[in-house]
Amino acid sequence: MQLAKLRAGLTHVLATNAFWRERLNNVGGWDDFGRLPLTTKSELIADQASHPPFGSNLTFPVDRYLRLHQTSGSSGDQPLRWLDTEESWDWWLRIWAEHVYPAAGVTSADRVFLAFSFGPFIGFWSAFGGAERLGALCISGGAMTSEQRVRNMLDVGATVLLSTPTYALRLADVADRIGVNVSAAGIRRTVHAGEPGASIPATRDAIEAAYSAQAFDHTGMTELGPTGFSCSARDGVHLIESEFIFEVAEDGELIATNLGRWGMPLFRYRTGDRVVVSREPCSCGSPFMKVVGGIQGRVDDMFTVRGVNLFPSQVEDIVRRHRLVTEFVIEHRKERQMDEVTILLEASGDFAADQLEADLRQALGVRLDCRVVEHGTLPRAELKSKRLVRVR
Ligand SMILES: [Zn+2]
Repeated sequence: MQLAKLRAGLTHVLATNAFWRERLNNVGGWDDFGRLPLTTKSELIADQASHPPFGSNLTFPVDRYLRLHQTSGSSGDQPLRWLDTEESWDWWLRIWAEHVYPAAGVTSADRVFLAFSFGPFIGFWSAFGGAERLGALCISGGAMTSEQRVRNMLDVGATVLLSTPTYALRLADVADRIGVNVSAAGIRRTVHAGEPGASIPATRDAIEAAYSAQAFDHTGMTELGPTGFSCSARDGVHLIESEFIFEVAEDGELIATNLGRWGMPLFRYRTGDRVVVSREPCSCGSPFMKVVGGIQGRVDDMFTVRGVNLFPSQVEDIVRRHRLVTEFVIEHRKERQMDEVTILLEASGDFAADQLEADLRQALGVRLDCRVVEHGTLPRAELKSKRLVRVR
């Protein structure tokens, strides 16, 4: 089925799309597919810079497209612009309505509150449109303070919260400060993206305890589409193989080809995400392979301490077991050729860092210093909290 979809789409793309015509040939079988070159984000950025404003990856004249979104630029890159046709936007919404929401137990009876700004990032709009397609009641939380969002969720009887995992915890913290009990608010499901938190056991536990709800993970990228969801087993993320072809490179990087966004498609795209996948059957019955434990992290977010390679998600899983911690950043420095790492923390109440240091050492096998800083000093990100900061 994947090969048939790929060949049908590729024939059309090669006829008119200048970006791919230069790079690709037609695909007869899987051997040909395996010989197609890999594509990186920097190639896409360079192409948009040399063919402004949308680049040359266009299968149709621009008037055929009806939506323009752009990447968050959170990694310091130039934001990428991405266009969708009516068909490719429909593909996005269908994946939300057929895969992501049902796997999280969200139904047409739910009231879905989206705690996002509704800026140009595609995730807000596709999640909103997907919930609408499902038949749920969709509530925008745009242009509100955290306090307003908490009160609004309660006032309208929201049953599902969509946000980043970090922001779900921050909302719960704000609710606490203003004396609102969100655990009794009637939220029964939370769906998270942007960071791996909902697949990190301690972070997921903290969200579930705060809301008395079940928390689910969702993966996706502006330039690719919605790629995965966590199911009832909640031990990883299923990759939606009916809509993408996924490959895993030798170093664990996930490579993806989308099969329904032909107006601006991607073939063998290097996602930059590090994964371990499993084809073991899942208790939820899904036929799709699973990213075990969710995405480990970005390939370029790995750091080394005394010979031990770590991802921020491993640190997060320990830090989030300490419920008084409200924010944290991993500061990585090179001092006299040595890697030095300090965890900077914001915490409420009487938090003692010694126990956290001991837990980190026990779990990760290396000593990481922890330092409590004043509330409000660490950066807040709307989309992707930057957990690792490299200081030179
Ligand atoms: Zn499953």
